Amino acid sequence: MPSKLVSIEEARTRVLAEAAPLPLETRSLVEALGAVLGEEIVAPHSVPPFDNSAMDGFAVRAADVVDANADSPTALLISETIPAGHMAKHRLGPGEAAKIMTGAPLPGGADAVVQSESTREEGSRVLVLESVRPGRNIRRSGEDVGRGDLVLAAGSVLGPAEIGLIASLGLPSVQVHRLPRVAIISTGSELVEVDQPLGPGQIRNSNSYSLRGQCLQLGIQATALGIVPDDYAATRELIEQGLTYDVLLTSGGVSVGEFDFVKEVQDELGVERRLWGVAMKPGKPLAFGVRDGTLVFGLPGNPVSAMVSFELFVRPALLRLMGYRKTTRPPYRAIIAEDVVNSDGRTYVVRVRAWREGSIWHVSSTGAQGSGILRSMVGANGLAFVPGGPRGVRAGEEVEFLLFREDLQEP
Ligand code: AMP
Ligand code: MG
Repeated sequence: MPSKLVSIEEARTRVLAEAAPLPLETRSLVEALGAVLGEEIVAPHSVPPFDNSAMDGFAVRAADVVDANADSPTALLISETIPAGHMAKHRLGPGEAAKIMTGAPLPGGADAVVQSESTREEGSRVLVLESVRPGRNIRRSGEDVGRGDLVLAAGSVLGPAEIGLIASLGLPSVQVHRLPRVAIISTGSELVEVDQPLGPGQIRNSNSYSLRGQCLQLGIQATALGIVPDDYAATRELIEQGLTYDVLLTSGGVSVGEFDFVKEVQDELGVERRLWGVAMKPGKPLAFGVRDGTLVFGLPGNPVSAMVSFELFVRPALLRLMGYRKTTRPPYRAIIAEDVVNSDGRTYVVRVRAWREGSIWHVSSTGAQGSGILRSMVGANGLAFVPGGPRGVRAGEEVEFLLFREDLQEP
């Protein structure tokens, strides 16, 4: 290992220094969730495009019903019924009301809508049981978006509401940063694919599944290039193939073992190393570099190390490539439920269950924390950071943590 490990923050800074937003592409709105806009969205028309009723009821002239109340209702003549999607046929005259449905265009002459609960229909007349102020229950043309408004700036992340708003403006596609193409290679002569029988000394390739899952959570469909045995030539061949992607993730083979060829192959293929070794556990062996715009991550092989390294370094890089400005999760502070000993100098990244009591966050270790114990990630919704030092932390003390799953928050 290198003599000088860099901190998690420094490692992330070096990774992000190499990651710039990818070029724009036109994407259909239905596929744009989570993408980052590369253009301004300016409204070609108003939303709503016309004044319409916010209620089922009667469109009236407010002046006609100023004296209306339940004891002495005002009777108006029903001029017509206006369903949603239809224009009124008549302009409202004095003493008239038009029956109107939610979303239907307001007839000319009307300046308010009385909701149907405050009316009683009697044949061709309606009795209005309360007065309304002008403008009541009317959705004005342009009250959501005015024609020419800048509704979304370049750099906006498209969530469901943003996509709905763009749809309301009649724009079926948008300019967004394209998604990174990501390749995953699993190194290790002991690995077999998930559907293969286990021979002596073999284990299953789980990393390509967890890493692909982590990519998919960002909307990225990564390509698994398969397993490569710990053989120099084979490793070189597959890594060379992986270098045609925007991002290459290898797992394993990056330590100091006799058959760990990943770093050597990276060097051989001209990958410029920016990082080697992070002062954390798990996840110390991380070899990151670049070649011709490809970000090359040599992730550790241990299943937990690979996932934690993805969360802390690969995820921010992928988000930056996608055009995100904010690439890291917010740091929270929590009370830790147990003592954590951390006597060496590295930051201990503890897989935790985080929950909130009132406004106070609490975290508790998910159990055995070995870097090969994937069950420490199962049921975890956070990573807590216990600084290196002589003593670690004691139960009841504060630690920093990040929340990576919103759906698991029970104690
Ligand atoms: P390495 O970094 O290659 O020394 O691997 C460290 C540990 O992680 C070893 O015990 C490997 O068997 C294990 N490992 C490596 N790659 C994978 C993988 N794709 N899936 C599951 N375990 C792996
Ligand atoms: Mg290996």
